[in-house]
Amino acid sequence: MADNNAGEETIFSKIIRQEIPTPLLFQDDLVTAFRDITPQASSHILIIPNKLIPTVNDIKQEDELTMGRMFTVAKQLAQAEGIAEDGYRLIMNCNQHGGQEVYHIHMHLVGGQPLGRMLNPK
Ligand code: 5GP
Repeated sequence: MADNNAGEETIFSKIIRQEIPTPLLFQDDLVTAFRDITPQASSHILIIPNKLIPTVNDIKQEDELTMGRMFTVAKQLAQAEGIAEDGYRLIMNCNQHGGQEVYHIHMHLVGGQPLGRMLNPK
């Protein structure tokens, strides 16, 4: 059973509301984007829904517009970062096996360098 804190707010809600000041790269009525605090590549941006959705398993049909907005914002930010042409990776981790640490869904936009194969065997 995943420990997803039963849908409690995470630090990401405080960043959305700017209670924890974090430079935002994008924000509208549906999504917010900011740089990952521990970047895994030269460009590492998080794109998150303003609404708290704990995991991908919790996405509902009514969230489809928000999910689509996350992709169009990812595309725009990749262009703004200058990494669109060379390429990048979009990642959403789900629950324990997916390595999810923050239970407010987020899309990782990672790039700026060759990223290698998709999964690193451990
Ligand atoms: P996950 O492992 O859940 O897919 O990724 C969570 C991500 O959130 C990690 O890459 C981590 O570095 C990032 N993160 C955690 N706390 C903060 C924070 O307070 N500020 C920012 N900007 N990123 C955070």
